[in-house]
Amino acid sequence: MIIGPADVELDMDLPTLGGGDFEDWMALKVVVDTGKCLGYANCIADAPEVFEMPEDEMIVRVLQEHPDEALRSAVEAAALDCPARAISIVG
Ligand code: SF4
Repeated sequence: MIIGPADVELDMDLPTLGGGDFEDWMALKVVVDTGKCLGYANCIADAPEVFEMPEDEMIVRVLQEHPDEALRSAVEAAALDCPARAISIVG
């Protein structure tokens, strides 16, 4: 499943048959298009465990690229609440 803009380039490699990294490939992944981020900070309100914004910057940083499944609803809310549509969620 992908939530967010479709024009974000994602670095997803398909798992190879017989490889042991299928669970990693299926894990929740958060991607922010920093070129679109306008610093509204809605994402930080929704998921402070996953996003932060240094005081001297107006662009969000992803703290956890692969957050725990328990944070899925929070990061989905962050993607949906982002006015700039800068957040994509894969997995
Ligand atoms: S809600 Fe969107 S625009 Fe605002 S800080 Fe987060 S990623 Fe950037």
